[in-house]
Amino acid sequence: MGALPSILDPRSVIMLAGIMGLMMALVVFFMRRSYPPSIGGLGDWALAPLVAFVSTMLFAGRGFLPDFVTIVVANFVLFQACILYYSGSQKFLLGRSDTRGWTLLNGFLGLAMFWFSAVKPDFEFRLVLVTLAVSALFFFHARLYMRDRGMVFGKRLMTGLLLVQSAVAALRFVSVLVGMAGESLLDTSWIQSLYITMYSFTVLLMSIAVILMATDRVHTEFEYLASRDPLTGALNRRALLDACRAAFAHAGRRRVALLMIDLDHFKDINDRFGHLMGDAVLREAVSRMQRAIGDAGVLGRYGGEEFVVLLSGAGQAEAMSIAQQLKQAVGEPFTPDSPLAAVGAMAVSIGVAAGEEGNRVDDVLARADAALYRAKAMGRDQVMAAA
Ligand code: GH3
Ligand code: MG
Ligand code: MG
Repeated sequence: MGALPSILDPRSVIMLAGIMGLMMALVVFFMRRSYPPSIGGLGDWALAPLVAFVSTMLFAGRGFLPDFVTIVVANFVLFQACILYYSGSQKFLLGRSDTRGWTLLNGFLGLAMFWFSAVKPDFEFRLVLVTLAVSALFFFHARLYMRDRGMVFGKRLMTGLLLVQSAVAALRFVSVLVGMAGESLLDTSWIQSLYITMYSFTVLLMSIAVILMATDRVHTEFEYLASRDPLTGALNRRALLDACRAAFAHAGRRRVALLMIDLDHFKDINDRFGHLMGDAVLREAVSRMQRAIGDAGVLGRYGGEEFVVLLSGAGQAEAMSIAQQLKQAVGEPFTPDSPLAAVGAMAVSIGVAAGEEGNRVDDVLARADAALYRAKAMGRDQVMAAA
């Protein structure tokens, strides 16, 4: 074991790891400032490598600083950094965090570190406690990601890092049990070198994983915002027409139907109750329509109080029946305790047109619109099939 330890001198590796972590903390900190606040966890993730750096400095002071600082405080601070990473992940994935149990455990760990360094010095037992706690924390942290859906690369990297780190800590734990602990932290046993090298790479790679995850989340959020109508949450006109074009381009042998929907006498609602009430009615109409459609189709806001439903795989008859259900659902009178009770009820007129692969969206929409116009002319609150 002569060559390896001289390459991986633990003290230099620890210092380098700390400095790398510090630089990554800066990157994440600036990301936090420019990213929307909906991306949770960046604050903790920026702080964690900073705290880890402080612990690194304390560990590196072994021999110069009092043991209390380099053993008790250093371990406490390092474990706190691991907890911060965990709470960052909780905020990012779940929107909230609770790591009080782990912080409490860290307090007990600190007491034990003090006892087994100042009162009854025992390096092996300290190592057993720390590696066990670290392994458990990293495992629980990894489990959080394994339970999450939507495994993008950043999350996979994070999960892998956490599992490896958990395994390495467990290995270190076993090494103590089989009597390979070494003499101290800065001992040059290969397992100690591995432990410290893994740790240094983990600090760096975790920040990279964090940056990848946050960037992916921002991308997804912006994509969502760019495709939605801000008032109602339905697809906006551009996203709706894109979906329609795609449906007609790839329909195969299936039919594709479009419903053109217009709220009846909506201007009256605005005039009588104000635009804010009008907005609330629009939102309620969309929520009812979305519930009525379920997975059968997608709803988009074509403009003003006009909506389009795209039904992939539905022929004229099926589309007519869905349109009837939609009309029914929207027309349900408001209950007396509803904030919209004063409005009484909404009503819609719907034009239905089915098409097939290769049809131009504009043509099918025009047919649905003509049917809608006839529904209006016939007295509103009804469904009409296109000619
Ligand atoms: P019809 O039964 O013939 O469809 O009559 P209508 O009153 O529903 O139709 P009209 O086209 O005359 O009026 C539509 C109104 O919808 C006019 C416009 O001010 C209102 N409107 C459009 N977008 C919004 C919106 O986002 N919020 C609110 N509150 N009103 C809107
Ligand atoms: Mg209208
Ligand atoms: Mg209209």
